Amino acid sequence: MPDQDQSHELQVLDPATEEVVATVPAADAGDVHRAVERAVAAQRAWATTAPADRARLLRRFADVVDAHLEELAHLEVREAGHLLGNARWEAGNARDLLLYAAGGAERLLGRQIPVPGGWDVTFLEPLGVVGVIAPWNFPMPIAGWGSFPALAAGNAVVLKPAEATPLTALRLAELALEAGLPEHLFQVLPGHGHTAGRALVDHPDVAKIVFTGSTRTGREVMERCARHTKPVTLELGGKSPNVVFADADLKAAVDPFSFLDNSGQDCCARTRILVQEPVYDEVRELLAKALAAVVVGDPADERTQMGPLISRRQLDRVRSYVPEGAPALRGSAPDGPGFWFPPTVLTGERHDSDAAREEIFGPVAVLLPFTDEQDAIRLANDTPYGLSGSIWTRDVGRALRVSQAVRAGNLSVNSHSSVRYWTPFGGFKQSGVGRELGPDALTAFTETKNVFISTEGPAQ
Ligand code: NDP
Repeated sequence: MPDQDQSHELQVLDPATEEVVATVPAADAGDVHRAVERAVAAQRAWATTAPADRARLLRRFADVVDAHLEELAHLEVREAGHLLGNARWEAGNARDLLLYAAGGAERLLGRQIPVPGGWDVTFLEPLGVVGVIAPWNFPMPIAGWGSFPALAAGNAVVLKPAEATPLTALRLAELALEAGLPEHLFQVLPGHGHTAGRALVDHPDVAKIVFTGSTRTGREVMERCARHTKPVTLELGGKSPNVVFADADLKAAVDPFSFLDNSGQDCCARTRILVQEPVYDEVRELLAKALAAVVVGDPADERTQMGPLISRRQLDRVRSYVPEGAPALRGSAPDGPGFWFPPTVLTGERHDSDAAREEIFGPVAVLLPFTDEQDAIRLANDTPYGLSGSIWTRDVGRALRVSQAVRAGNLSVNSHSSVRYWTPFGGFKQSGVGRELGPDALTAFTETKNVFISTEGPAQ
């Protein structure tokens, strides 16, 4: 979170220039309360709307997003400092998830279970009003991941974006209305986490909270939800390993964008590069060359490969993990205004140092050697997190063994990919609770109701 006071306005800064992009009113607890009341009424009507009609409206919403793709992408560049190419992908992700979720509205199937004396059927019913609390690192996709499957399943959504990045979420809510979604069904309330966020979590008529952000805040959200026995989905931090065996395609394995994408502000960033000893020096050299070649600068310039960090506070946090003179491989970064930090790989860390264990959330990774498969698994799992990770080897048996042994929700073998809207996403251990996206995305926003229907005739 950028350092802002609890004022009634949020100042949105361009992270590349520190210029003010927009000023947005901050919702207080009363605003949240009124939004939830409106959402309760809107949801009642939405839940009785035929699934085919809900699907049609969500597809129309996707079409409107598609027609505004460039506008949304440029907004994301301004408020979040994302590369234009990435921001286009993000707007496209919002559109595609809307289409995917729309298809689910008509496929929310219950089951028929054989029982004696009658029929037993289950129904997947919407929860009611869902509260979504989004972070600043991927403002548009994460707003969509929580909100769109919930809408498709018949819920209303009140979304609180991060105070640094409210603009794309606000625009999405306007586009939803333009597409014909009922008023108050999808409301976006920018505000401070400690006021608007807490009010949403504490509201008795909010049936579920979907939270993405730090493990510390996620834990608080979960504790507050527990007071209302309110379900939560938590997508939290990560410190993901990139496990590189000696037989791997080393060039592909040490792609620096596995931890530099979005300037490292990515919960799936592979920030622990674990390398088998015989190829450690070769990997080190490859990384040194790759970091030196990374083009860091204006995110709107299509040649740029890495942009700024989100805020001064985040910059200070990242700096604190890289003391002056620490042994490291380094790229370059612009001087002057903007929140810049160079691509960095720390080479003198122990696996139990702060930089090797804590989520830095910047363009900083650590390089650590391992001896054999067992050692690799031990190091990969030696973290409180379990979100993501990559395994690089040409030995299929080893790839399977290691991917079974690493305790993380999203792994890739001979690839650094991790998030697709049609596959499940979420973390083990302190990386989270529950899953988003994938074939069960809508089910996470439903209650299962079981109904038994007696086939016994009336008593004679
Ligand atoms: P937070 O977890 O504090 O913020 C995430 C969201 O939660 C924001 O919308 C925030 O609002 C809101 N929030 C904050 N406090 C509360 C609360 N008490 N109740 C309800 N909602 C709340 O993350 P920060 O922005 O402070 O980032 C700090 C660190 O967290 C980063 O350096 C990074 O390590 C990690 N992080 C991880 C993310 C991930 O995807 N895994 C995403 C973002 C951060 P507001 O913006 O007003 O604070």
